Amino acid sequence: MGIIEKMRLDGKKGFVTGGARGIGKSVALALCEAGADIAIVDMDIDEAQKTAEWMAKETGQDVFAVQTDVTSPDDVNQMVDQVLARFGRLDIAFCNAGICINVPAVDMTFEQWKKVIDVNLTGVFLTAQAAGRIMIKQGSGSIINTASMSAHIVNVPQPQCAYNASKAGVIQLTKSMAVEWATTGVRVNSISPGYIGTELILAAPHLTALIDEWNKIGPMHRLGKPEELQALVVYLAGDMASFTTGSDFVADGAFTAF
Ligand code: NAD
Repeated sequence: MGIIEKMRLDGKKGFVTGGARGIGKSVALALCEAGADIAIVDMDIDEAQKTAEWMAKETGQDVFAVQTDVTSPDDVNQMVDQVLARFGRLDIAFCNAGICINVPAVDMTFEQWKKVIDVNLTGVFLTAQAAGRIMIKQGSGSIINTASMSAHIVNVPQPQCAYNASKAGVIQLTKSMAVEWATTGVRVNSISPGYIGTELILAAPHLTALIDEWNKIGPMHRLGKPEELQALVVYLAGDMASFTTGSDFVADGAFTAF
């Protein structure tokens, strides 16, 4: 069997949070193209359903949508129950849903701080914990959490202290789970993308106004594309990565390299 065949995910079952659009949608497509069946988990059920129908048609895999707010333990537990009812097992969890609020630290309200931490850090904790509980029983599984280059540097010029803190938290959460579960067959890793051209940026005028400025700083002088994260997550999801756990993978066009 060649290396590409060994990297395939045939027979594996997974979920992707924030899967309706952006990075989640692109990675979910890649997981399906590699042979996995995937639940598209998102708060926006209309978009999630559209994505799931399109992806099922495109790839021939079993893809369905589940409405979930990742900040709600009840929602997350119900989501996992639905995934198990449909698929019978869980091999891959891409805990990826996230939001950003750009407010200076001195002006940030408690609600704004809490919202970002709830979605980006607590949401990843709840979904990874729920996935881990199933995977530990199975004796196998791969969890991939979305952190950010903002876990490693402080972005400029836009202020985003809660986002940066939440993403740094995702990396330590990932490492903690990886160490606790190292002998169970369950691996936990994170990815740290640089600026990626998704609606998180492209639908926010205060951020699109900064793209030229970021591109001046970034050594590749461009945004990344969601497709440029696909192979990394497919690799981490599969059995070829069996010795890789507790690591963070930066994919940022060298933005944080200097
Ligand atoms: P996006 O805004 O395009 O997509 C995010 C998706 O998450 C949306 O479909 C949204 O409905 C969903 N979502 C938001 N809150 C949710 C909740 N509470 N429960 C369930 N679903 C929820 O964003 P994206 O750019 O695709 O970002 C995906 C992840 O990548 C996020 O964690 C983000 O922080 C991270 N990231 C993005 C970039 C970037 O430049 N775009 C860079 C580094 C990291």
